[in-house]
Amino acid sequence: MSLKRDYFEIRLESIGGLGANLSGKILGEYGALYLGLNASSFSSYGSEKRGSPVKAYIRYAKENTPIRANSPVKVPDILAIFHLALADKENIMAGVSENTSVVVNTDKQPDEVRDILKMYAGKLYCIDALKIALETKSRINMVMLGAIAKTNDFMDIEKLKQCIENTIGKKYPKALEQNINAIQCGYENVIFKDISPDNKYDYIVAKDIESRWGYKNAPIGGINTLFGNSVCNDISASREGYVPIFKKEKCINCGLCDTTCPDFAFQFVRGKYKDKESMINLGIDYHHCKGCMRCVEICPTKALEKALEKDVDIFKSHKRNKDLIVDKLDFEKTGASSFVTSESYTENINI
Ligand code: SF4
Ligand code: SF4
Repeated sequence: MSLKRDYFEIRLESIGGLGANLSGKILGEYGALYLGLNASSFSSYGSEKRGSPVKAYIRYAKENTPIRANSPVKVPDILAIFHLALADKENIMAGVSENTSVVVNTDKQPDEVRDILKMYAGKLYCIDALKIALETKSRINMVMLGAIAKTNDFMDIEKLKQCIENTIGKKYPKALEQNINAIQCGYENVIFKDISPDNKYDYIVAKDIESRWGYKNAPIGGINTLFGNSVCNDISASREGYVPIFKKEKCINCGLCDTTCPDFAFQFVRGKYKDKESMINLGIDYHHCKGCMRCVEICPTKALEKALEKDVDIFKSHKRNKDLIVDKLDFEKTGASSFVTSESYTENINI
């Protein structure tokens, strides 16, 4: 099968750490060297690579059609979403129409995914890439590549495997079998649903990215009021499927997790531990947790454990740091027996 149209565009939406940048490079090489097409690819990401949004753009064209565009892909033929938590944080559905194949890494069913994405229309392919990556001891991006190959006839899965063999297979030969297996599983296990335009959600027009601040509205002195670790920043989309779970009964309030956490996610208040004045650990504000697991590694008592985010309802019991200072916190929910408010912040808490 060959490319039916002169021009074909792919956009990958991800966060740093899931391998979208590498996937983009592989898809570029795959198009040029294995499908006989003209191809180009590039990625865009911020300074802090792990956990921050990443977009990769790939263009294919027939042999005699030159690729002259070097700009982001606004109306993709394939949109691959490596991380569903980006749905309400980035404008990832821009340009998606009934002609777009949307590949999503998710353990959810297509109808639910459509609602999460507010998808106007298109061909929806759902794949539980995290689960398959764990089972095959491979990586999410390999599974996603297999699922992407499923969307169009011209994307030959065997040629994709050859491409992997000759690229990352040479660099990491011991992982080749797992990677090939993950691609095949991604290809075979997608759940497909064709969604027609039905007025449930609107088509989203891709706009040029506008800078948030310019000379008219930038804060005086060039102060950045939205820096990375501030209380107003929700960085939960940076997690790659794992969260630390806090086991209060094992905690000795040593504070190592708090000094280790790069995002100030822990909630400590003044209180008493073993009849001595101490700072008491109340757990994690998951809005600020990017799932790096440094706290799990440092904790001396295993009071912090790594868990799959989809298996635990972290938002059922967790409190925001800002609520801790502004509102009354019901300690019964946290397992303790008294209240703390902004006024009584220094009251003793016996745990
Ligand atoms: S490192 Fe572990 S024991 Fe120490 S305060 Fe944090 S959770 Fe508790
Ligand atoms: S995993 Fe632990 S150390 Fe990393 S951001 Fe979350 S709470 Fe902080």
